[in-house]
Amino acid sequence: MAEQVEYDAVVVGSGPNGLAAAIALQREGLSVLMLEAKKTIGGGMRSGEITLPGFIHDICSSAHPMATTSPFFRTLPLEQFGLTYIQPEIAAAHPFEGNKGATLHRSLESTAEALGEDAQAYRSLFQPILSHWEQLSTEILGPLRIPSDPLLLARFGIKAGLSATHLASRFKTTRARALFGGVAAHAMQPLSALTTAAVGLVLTAAGHYGGWPGVEGGTQKLADALGSYFRSLGGVIETECEITSLKQVPPSRAALFDVSPKQFLRIANSELSSNYRWQLERFRYGMGAFKIDWALSGPVPFLHADARRAGTVHLGGTLEEIARSEYEVSRGRHPERPYVLLTQQSLFDATRAPAGKHTLWAYCHVPNGSTRDMTEKIESQIERYAPGFRDLILATTVTTPADLEAYNANYVGGDINGGSLDLRQLFTRPTLSLSPYRTSRPGLYLCSASTPPGGGVHGMCGFHAARLALEEVFGKSSN
Ligand SMILES: Cc1cc2nc3c(=O)[nH]c(=O)nc-3n(C[C@H](O)[C@H](O)[C@H](O)COP(=O)(O)OP(=O)(O)OC[C@H]3O[C@@H](n4cnc5c(N)ncnc54)[C@H](O)[C@@H]3O)c2cc1C
Repeated sequence: MAEQVEYDAVVVGSGPNGLAAAIALQREGLSVLMLEAKKTIGGGMRSGEITLPGFIHDICSSAHPMATTSPFFRTLPLEQFGLTYIQPEIAAAHPFEGNKGATLHRSLESTAEALGEDAQAYRSLFQPILSHWEQLSTEILGPLRIPSDPLLLARFGIKAGLSATHLASRFKTTRARALFGGVAAHAMQPLSALTTAAVGLVLTAAGHYGGWPGVEGGTQKLADALGSYFRSLGGVIETECEITSLKQVPPSRAALFDVSPKQFLRIANSELSSNYRWQLERFRYGMGAFKIDWALSGPVPFLHADARRAGTVHLGGTLEEIARSEYEVSRGRHPERPYVLLTQQSLFDATRAPAGKHTLWAYCHVPNGSTRDMTEKIESQIERYAPGFRDLILATTVTTPADLEAYNANYVGGDINGGSLDLRQLFTRPTLSLSPYRTSRPGLYLCSASTPPGGGVHGMCGFHAARLALEEVFGKSSN
């Protein structure tokens, strides 16, 4: 006799990918249960008062070019469930020492114009991408497959397949090269690695398409909006329910796991084929993140005027300096002057801090599993571009790679992208397969950032895993 199923599908983990998978299944009329280990849903989308009362910090993600560009999130009525994106005056700034720097505006034309000598080179790189962005983003934010417009994808792929340092060499000015390098360094790879140009192109194009906004009230509101929408469709969420074995998963026709390969091996080990287990064991995790949140008595006094008006700021100087810093980390060393990613959401969102006061969020890349305290080095980098910054500090909370992994088991060794985003693992992660969401046990799927298209808050890993489950288990095709 067939086993009685309580739910059509169970989703383990409520990060952006778990929530996307659950919504994609539930809105096809299935009954879906979501199980989350922690007290609150959201994974990398949580916020909280982690320094002082009244200061709301984004615990993980803070800037949302990938959420606003996500072909799946774009289709959801999240504003009706309390989500408001706040566009900072300037998407991202890249200061140099003194009061000069480069600026990523939401408008492509304003960004190009400000690059002077490189204006035309910038336009000719990004205009063709932006003109087809809705179609291109649908093609590239997913697994390898036959493209609907091979020529369009090939034109993008020729540039995206390069290293960031190679692609940036088409620019003559230090400003344009540094601007591109600062964005590409989100890849957490040495900038000489193939595919780092892809990260620079995607994040810049996404910025011109939908901005680099914060979420009003903190990123948790994005998680809450996704959760409320899921519940409004009839979905069920249970929190404080950590799954350590398949036996804990209620009977269902499909189960999707928003977890890392390392965890999935523990949860499903004896149920997996030896070949699949072997492939998961070889999965490589990338650099870790060392993060600091500050409560400040005033805004950061950047010398570069645009950095004082930007949501995100990239610190690290020239392309060459950032490339050196990322190379050092890739070799297992801690750079003296790390590349620092920083957001200052309270400048544009009064709900984040008491009047006149501010929150600040920043992290730098470190070797996976590093235990080195980078506070002094990160604060020195900020002080270099904003003298007097340290005088504003009211309180600090430091999150090391080990803290990140303890907080969320998906961040193995502090890797916030769910695994190294190198050439081998960019499109075919965690295994070399055209359907990398499928595991060796029928009915079980992986849907976390360890599957294509990888890290970031976009939900596309969850969406594609759900599509595959809908097709294979439920005989439905979804859009
Ligand atoms: C410090 C930091 C800064 C970041 N900044 C940005 C940014 O600005 N913009 C951006 O787009 N991205 C950013 N990211 C990356 C982004 O947050 C992640 O790539 C994204 O959240 C991954 O989504 P996910 O659904 O795969 O997993 P996660 O968001 O990690 O969610 C996984 C969920 O599953 C739960 N879970 C895990 N194991 C189990 C289990 N065994 N049983 C039950 N539940 C389980 C976890 O508790 C968690 O809630 C950042 C991440 C970090 C850590």
